[in-house]
Amino acid sequence: MKYFIKVFGCQMNQSDAERIATFLEKYKIKPASSIDEANLIVFVTCGVRQSAEDRIYGQINNIRKKYSDKKIILTGCLAHRKDVQRRLKGKVDLFCEIKSFPLAISPFLKGGLRGISAMEPGNPSPALPLGKGESSDYLEITPKYSNPYAAYIPVMTGCNNFCAYCVVPYARGREYSRPAEDILKEVKDLIGKGYKEIMLLGQNVNSYKSPKTNFPKLLHLIEKIPGNFWLTFLTSHPKDMSDELIGTIVKSKKICEYISLPAQSGDNEILLKMNRKYSVEHYKSFIKKIRAAYKKYQPDIFPSISTDIIVGFPSETKKQFENSAKLLREMKFDMAYIAQYSPRPETAAWRLKDSVSKKEKARREKVLTDILSKTALENNKKYVGKIVEVLVDKRITSSPQKYIAHTRTQKKVIFLYNKKITVGSFAKVKITKAKAFGLEGEIS
Ligand code: SAM
Ligand code: SF4
Repeated sequence: MKYFIKVFGCQMNQSDAERIATFLEKYKIKPASSIDEANLIVFVTCGVRQSAEDRIYGQINNIRKKYSDKKIILTGCLAHRKDVQRRLKGKVDLFCEIKSFPLAISPFLKGGLRGISAMEPGNPSPALPLGKGESSDYLEITPKYSNPYAAYIPVMTGCNNFCAYCVVPYARGREYSRPAEDILKEVKDLIGKGYKEIMLLGQNVNSYKSPKTNFPKLLHLIEKIPGNFWLTFLTSHPKDMSDELIGTIVKSKKICEYISLPAQSGDNEILLKMNRKYSVEHYKSFIKKIRAAYKKYQPDIFPSISTDIIVGFPSETKKQFENSAKLLREMKFDMAYIAQYSPRPETAAWRLKDSVSKKEKARREKVLTDILSKTALENNKKYVGKIVEVLVDKRITSSPQKYIAHTRTQKKVIFLYNKKITVGSFAKVKITKAKAFGLEGEIS
C-alpha cells in the first residue's frame, strides 16, 4: 500500500504535507515515487488564485481518466468549499480540512487497504474517534521533513485579518498559535540532528501569541538554543510590525536579514478597499526603520526586503496602479511576488466587479516585474567582491564542480569550487557577479 502527496501553493502547505506523510506512514503506508505507483493520492490544495485551482481540477481529471481504483483525498484550502466538492463529486473519495485530517482519515487507515477501499466518492469527512496516542491537533504531529538540513516550522495557522481578496481566513479558520514549548522542542530536536536553517511559518507571524510569549520573545527563546543555525520567518503583516520585533531581528546574529513584508498595493484607497489597515506612508516608514536599525546595529549587513503586490484589484485605476509602481521604485525591493488579482469565492471582494481586464493586469504585472528586476540587480551589485556565507543546496555539475546555494538573505548563488562540498553545509563564497535574481561566485 503506497501513498503520493501532491502539494500546491505555499510553504505552509508544504509543511502540512510533511505532517500528512508522518500520519500515513504510522499506518504502514509507504511513500510512492509517482502517482502511477500509488494506491492513495493526497492533494494538498491551494485556493489563493483561480490558476492554482484549475491545475488541481486538471490533474484530478487526468488521474481519473487513467485510474478508477486509486483513492484520492483532497485537503488544504479548497477542501471545505461546497462548489469544489460538487465539481469533483465522484472523482475525489474524501474531502477533509487540514485541521481535521487526523480525525477524518484515521478510521479508514485503521482498516488497512480494506479500510481505504471503503472510502466512497463524495463521502463527507466522518468525525470518528482517533487511535490511541493520536491528537486531534494536527500541528502536534512530528513532520516527515522533506529536507535534511532546512526545516519549516509553523508557529501559527489561520488568520483573523480578512483582507478583502484573501481566502485564508475561510480556508484555515481563525488564528491559532502553537504552544511555545512545542515549537522550542521541535527546533531543539532539529538542531540536535544537525539542521542548519529553521524557517518559522505563519500567515501573520507578528500576531503569534501564547501565554507569556509574543513573537519577538519566541525569537529570543529560539536563538538561545545552542548551535550554528539560521533562523528565518514568513510572513509579517505591516500593521503588526512592532519596534520590539525590529529591535529583536536587527540585534540578532542568528535571525537572518530577510524580511517578507507584503504591501499588496502602493495606493491608500486600494489598501482601504483591501482592508489592509495601514497606509502607504506607514508601510514605507517600517522599511526605512528596518534599514536604519540594521545600519546602526550591523552596518555591514544589507537586509533583503521582499514584498507581495496584487495588480488589478477591483476598481484599481491606472493612476492607483502607478502608486504601486512608485512604491516599488522608491523602496527598491530585493524581491516582490507580483500577482494578478483573482476573484475568490467567499471573500469580500468576490462581490466586486473584476473591473481590470486580463490584458491590463498582465501589463501591470510586467511593469512591476521590470522595476523589480532593476532594483534587485542594483541591490545584488552590493555583494560583488564580498565574501558571503551560504548554505549549499545542490551540486549541479561535477566538472567543473558547480553548486547552488542560498544566502542568509534568500538570494540564490551559483558558485564554483574545485573540491567536493557537502550539501546542507555552510560555505564562504566570494561573489563575482550580480544578476537580477541571483548571484554568482567562487571559493578559491
Ligand atoms: N499573510 C500574507 C499577507 O498578509 O500579505 C499573505 C498570505 S497570501 C496567502 C499570499 C499572497 O497571495 C498574498 O500576499 C497576495 O499577494 C496573494 N493573493 C492572495 N489572494 C489573492 C487573490 N485573490 N488574487 C491574487 N493574489 C492573491
Ligand atoms: Fe490573507 Fe490578509 Fe490574512 Fe494575509 S493577512 S493571510 S493576505 S487575510
